[in-house]
Amino acid sequence: MNTPRLADFRRIVVKIGSSLLVDAKASRLNEKWLASLAADIAALYAGKRDLLVVSSGAIALGRSVLKLPAGPLALEDSQAAAAVGQIALARTWTEALSRHGITAGQVLVTLGDTEERRRYLNARSTIDRLLQWRAVPVINENDTVATNEIRYGDNDRLAARVATMMSADALVLLSDVDGLYDAPPDSGVAARHLPRVERVTPEIEAMAGAAGSGLSRGGMQTKLEAAKIATAAGTHMVIASGRVEHPLSAIEKGARSTWFVTAANPVTARKKWIAGSLEPKGTLTIDAGAVTALRRGNSLLPVGVMRIEGDFARGDAVIIRGPDGVEIARGLCAYDAEDAHKIRGRSSSDIDTILGFSGRAEMVHRDDLVVGRE
Ligand code: GLU
Repeated sequence: MNTPRLADFRRIVVKIGSSLLVDAKASRLNEKWLASLAADIAALYAGKRDLLVVSSGAIALGRSVLKLPAGPLALEDSQAAAAVGQIALARTWTEALSRHGITAGQVLVTLGDTEERRRYLNARSTIDRLLQWRAVPVINENDTVATNEIRYGDNDRLAARVATMMSADALVLLSDVDGLYDAPPDSGVAARHLPRVERVTPEIEAMAGAAGSGLSRGGMQTKLEAAKIATAAGTHMVIASGRVEHPLSAIEKGARSTWFVTAANPVTARKKWIAGSLEPKGTLTIDAGAVTALRRGNSLLPVGVMRIEGDFARGDAVIIRGPDGVEIARGLCAYDAEDAHKIRGRSSSDIDTILGFSGRAEMVHRDDLVVGRE
């Protein structure tokens, strides 16, 4: 595979580090730089690609608005600073993207939103809908409520989780480093830049341990963690410098960067996870019409479900059997067993009346379905 090009991807997550957005010394936003990035995002977006932004900067912006002194902050201080900064951050993105006629949608997530299946389905559907509406989701950790035990802590891994959750095919990490080096760039040793990494081996991880100093040390480690998460799920990742204007065009023009490439494809990787790694918690037996529909690539609607066994929660994996009992698919059920029982055999248009809330039309959405297991 040649060096990937952003223009070749269909769904791209761009993560922006705090230090790029906020000029700590001048205590203000890097407006000009942000405008150049927004123009790059708009150019990719115009090509019918889905763009998602994971933006750090809430705490940094809050600090500057509140004029907090430099130095480390206690957890409650950074949470309160994020409360102030996140508003400014959201407004900044709305303005920057609206200049290109693009609508931004703020999504704040905590660790459980990508790790717990039930909440994962919720977060994914919301972001999916924003993308269908051609809005650009602007995502950050919900820093004001995330405590140490339930936080990602860094937006590198958050961005990788979002990218894999949304089956993105590319993740761009923009920060103050232009990639991975085999020795600290400022050590005086002739450090070699690695333009491409096929696999995050222990040798590669050792380089992160050695690379940079102070802030950037942890910085490279979390970026490698992100690379592992992304590439395992079929998402290519690139680390590139955001210290230039038009940073995405710069990558396309060959600016120094490190690509972590994957042989997998995000949809296949996700389906492998559904089919192989999740323990099924129940069984849906479906009629012949539904079997045909599934084999044609459609979702499973409640009307085609004849029998339900097991005690499963929303988002759990289930086995799907044909009328003869033969397994034909596996998938994530959008309803828990109790609700699934109530709507089984019924038309999707009756769901709201039966359940008393407006549920999804599909019992198992085709994106969550793997057909063809023996
Ligand atoms: N969520 C944090 C913020 O918006 C940033 C985390 C990070 O820098 O990785 O301030």
